[in-house]
Formats: sequence, structure tokens, C-alpha cells
Amino acid sequence: MDATGRQTTGDQATATQPAPAATNQRIDGKRLWASLMEMAAIGATPKGGVRRLALSDVDRAGRDRFTELCQAAGLQVRVDGMGNMFARREGADPSRLPVLMGSHLDSQPSGGKFDGALGVLAGLEVMRTLNDLGLQTDAPVELVNWTDEEGARFGRSLMGSGVWGGVFDQAETQALQDPDGITVGAALDAIGYRGSEPVRPFPADAYFELHIEQGPILERDGLQIGIVTGAQAQVWYDLVATGQDSHAGTTPPSARRDALVCAARVVDLVGRMMRARGEQGRGTVGRMQVRPNSPNVIPGEVRFSAEFRHPDPAEIDRLAAQFPREAGFLARDCGVDLQVTELFRIPAQPFDAGCVDLVRQAAARLGLRAREIVSGAAHDAVYVAPHVPTAMIFTPCKDGLSHNEAESVEPGEAEAGCQVLFEAVVARACRVLNG
Ligand SMILES: [Zn+2]
Repeated sequence: MDATGRQTTGDQATATQPAPAATNQRIDGKRLWASLMEMAAIGATPKGGVRRLALSDVDRAGRDRFTELCQAAGLQVRVDGMGNMFARREGADPSRLPVLMGSHLDSQPSGGKFDGALGVLAGLEVMRTLNDLGLQTDAPVELVNWTDEEGARFGRSLMGSGVWGGVFDQAETQALQDPDGITVGAALDAIGYRGSEPVRPFPADAYFELHIEQGPILERDGLQIGIVTGAQAQVWYDLVATGQDSHAGTTPPSARRDALVCAARVVDLVGRMMRARGEQGRGTVGRMQVRPNSPNVIPGEVRFSAEFRHPDPAEIDRLAAQFPREAGFLARDCGVDLQVTELFRIPAQPFDAGCVDLVRQAAARLGLRAREIVSGAAHDAVYVAPHVPTAMIFTPCKDGLSHNEAESVEPGEAEAGCQVLFEAVVARACRVLNG
């Protein structure tokens, strides 16, 4: 038996074949729920949601409480220059790299109680369970609270993990301003969370993030666990349709250059291109500004967005080749100029097969109803994954609703997700290495 209480046998002793962890080691679901409710009270909204905007006073209160809870659990807390927080529990073997887990404590302006908080507080519950069991893992275990995942205040989502992962420049990010002109750097100083640790990837053995699905698939299929195999590829556009403002009553069809008719046809095109790819397709126009936006003036200019997502990056490449061309045909048909600017393409991010497998094994061992799933949303894990072997665990949320005060999770589902997280982390932190 080793530190996990499991039998070690020769054929399990390889780096790629983690031994099964014991299943009699249970996290405390009631304690996890109490932590979730305590954190939800910090920034609670009247409709039962949470408003804990990144680097606000409410975020500070949440961070301060999180720090206290970590210290009470005997963890060493350190903070980096972007306010990312790392709470460490030492392992038995100083040569081993840490196993990371975490998510984010910030929320949307009218967000829910579980988006982000579940992953952080489930990580805390894993630490407390290790303490209760007196279980010293071989590798250290670290719990992370990433700064500003939501992007609601400064307009940049995945901010903390993105700077950490080298996607965003630290100085440029700290100069970003909120609508009141307060910079990220000033906000970090104001709440006292500009730490001294460098903001860059450090060697780590694995990263596990538990998160609510924020979509309807697990609930629809009656499942408890999503084994997240990766995040889908995306391409984003800015579009400007330019026609001519003219009088709604006096301009005959042949003389109209209606930018909104063009935009409407492009919206329909996005929908058709999405549906042509079946259930895996995603295509959205979520923003539109019509000028002059007057009921009796033919619109002369429409500015709008478009984005596509798909698990297969080759489909995103095909979409990106097809969309500007077909949108251009529609615009010519409307007598309108259409400018299509590709803003960025996010490659699909597959997660680490070994880490994904630990999640799969844990769910199977626990007898939980699970399926593989590709994340439709981006998460901090996406920016960690290029540097550290990564996997995610999804837990269902009621009606697939998130970024909403009504966001809701059953206590038993939070507990199941946390138990899978525990098993995956322990299996990784106690695995037998070659050599
Ligand atoms: Zn989130």
C-alpha cells in the first residue's frame, strides 16, 4: 500500500498507467456546499446570484476569505503580479512537480453562485479531505484562483491565466481600463493583490479544473459528469455594411442600398452555415449597431459581429474560407459594401490524454454516469494546457443556464464533481513514476 491506501503492483508502475485510487476516501459534500454558500454571500444579489467583479472590493473580500480558509487548512498562499493566487500543500517528495487544480472566484455583473467558484472551492475541499485523511501525497498539490476569468470589467476574459500562459503581455494588460478609467494595475494595488511572484508558467505535473458545464448537454442526457476532452476552435469577425441613408417613403426598391437588409441576410447566412454542421456547429451574431437607427430612414450603415466555433479546427478553417466570400455575394446582391475583418482565430485546445483518462477512470470507479464532451466555452484551462498537462471535469447545471443569477447546481452534483476531482488529483499526485 502506498500513501493513497491503494495496492501497488508491478504492472501499474509506469508513468502512463496510473494506479486506481481507493474509493473509500470521500470528500465532504456538506462542507463543500457550505463553502459555496459562504462564498456566494460575498457579493450576493437580490435575485440569488452573485456580483463579484474582478479586482473590486467584493472580489477582495472573496479573496481575503479564501486566503483565511486556505491558511486554516495549512496551505501556503502566494500571489503573483497579476493577482493569481496559489495555495500549496507540500508533498512527500521534494523532487516532484506540483499537481494544480483551480478555477476563478470573479463573476459576471449578474452572475451565478457556481461559475468558477465551484472549481476553486472544490479544490479547497480536496485539500481539507487530504488533511482529514492525514494523507501526504508524493507530489505537492496547489490550488489556483485565477484573476478575472470573466472579462466583465476590463473587457479581457481569461486575463490572469492568459498573462500567466504568455498569451497577453503583462504591462499591456495592466494598462487596460474599466469604464471608470481605473486600470488593472491600479485595481490590483487598490485591493492589495499585486503579488511579488513572477507571472509565467512554472513546471507543474498536471492541472485539473472542475467547472459547471454552462450548457444543456449533461442535463439532457441525464449525466453527472462531463469528461472534457478539449475546447473547441473559434473564429471571430467584425463586419461593417455600408449602404446609403435615404427616405423610407420616397426611395423605390431599385434605388435602395439598405445596409440592414444586407446584415439580416448575413445573420441568416451565419445560421445556415452553423446548421450545415449539425449539432456540433456554432455560429452567432450577438451585436449589431444600426445607423441612423430611425424608423423612417433606410439604414446606411450597420456594424455587427459574427463568430463561429467547432471542435474540429479544419471546420473552422473551412468556415473562415467560406464566410467572407458568401457574405460578399449577399452584399453585392443588396448593393451594399461589406467589410469583413477577421479579428482572431483560437485554435482548438485538446486536453492531455493521460489527465483526461484519470477523470474517465475516476468517474467509472465511482459509478457515475459520464460522457466525453468538448467545452463550448473558453476556460482558464485552455491557457494552462499548452504549458501543463490539463483536463477538465464538467458538472451539469440546471437548464444549462449560466452567466445568470438563476444559475443552479444540485448539491449532489457538486459533490460528485468534487469527488472526481479528488480522485484524479490524488491518482496524479501519488502515481508511481518511472526511474
Ligand atoms: Zn467560469
